[in-house]
Amino acid sequence: MNPLAGHLALVIGHTRSRPGAAGVYPISSSEYEFNNDLADMIQKYANTRGHNVEIFHRDGVGIDGAYKNVSEWEPDAVCELHFNAFNGNVKGTETLYSDKNDSKQVLEKEFAIFVQEEICRVFRRKGREDRGLKNRPLSRGERGYWNVNQLFGIPSILIEPFFGDNKEEAKAAVENKQELAEAIVKGFERWKSLIAYERGLVTTPDTTDTRDTPDTPDTPDTPDTPDTPDTPDTPNT
Ligand SMILES: [Zn+2]
Repeated sequence: MNPLAGHLALVIGHTRSRPGAAGVYPISSSEYEFNNDLADMIQKYANTRGHNVEIFHRDGVGIDGAYKNVSEWEPDAVCELHFNAFNGNVKGTETLYSDKNDSKQVLEKEFAIFVQEEICRVFRRKGREDRGLKNRPLSRGERGYWNVNQLFGIPSILIEPFFGDNKEEAKAAVENKQELAEAIVKGFERWKSLIAYERGLVTTPDTTDTRDTPDTPDTPDTPDTPDTPDTPDTPNT
């Protein structure tokens, strides 16, 4: 039994009827379809590590409704699954989060850092392809801010692991899909370990490769899809 076993919630980005960006061959499907499958892989791998993973959808309930359901499940952390798209040429990995100053006291930024690092390892990101963390405070209202500001007391991140409209990225995403699933679980485990240390439950954190990842400015700005609200007045990312 893994002493750091935990509960991880996954939210599938977009909905069946408005499935987000289209991935080119060999993804050949939408964000929604790709990420439903990825979520199943994350769940299976996480189960082998002793974790409990529950998958939540925005279909019929919107972003607010999905996070309300997440909140009722009371996970340790939540990760919303997307992929990026822009003009077919851009490559890279980025992770959105909100709580830069740790006002929730759940180390949300560290969760984002660990997951970002693990995903960058899978895609062998170098230089600018590690697009870093994107801070999305509620006050600034930027792309994805609504998604990562739904929960109090639970670290909440949104991943854009690659650009699905870039053919090299699409190929890498399909070839490394299992590794991508495992990366999210590894990031979760590093965060679990750090928070156990912070709360005095273990004497040394197992958070290898931690570095201070600075927030990176959003250039070029690469929205994954135009705003397509699930429900009126709720921005959609
Ligand atoms: Zn998306």
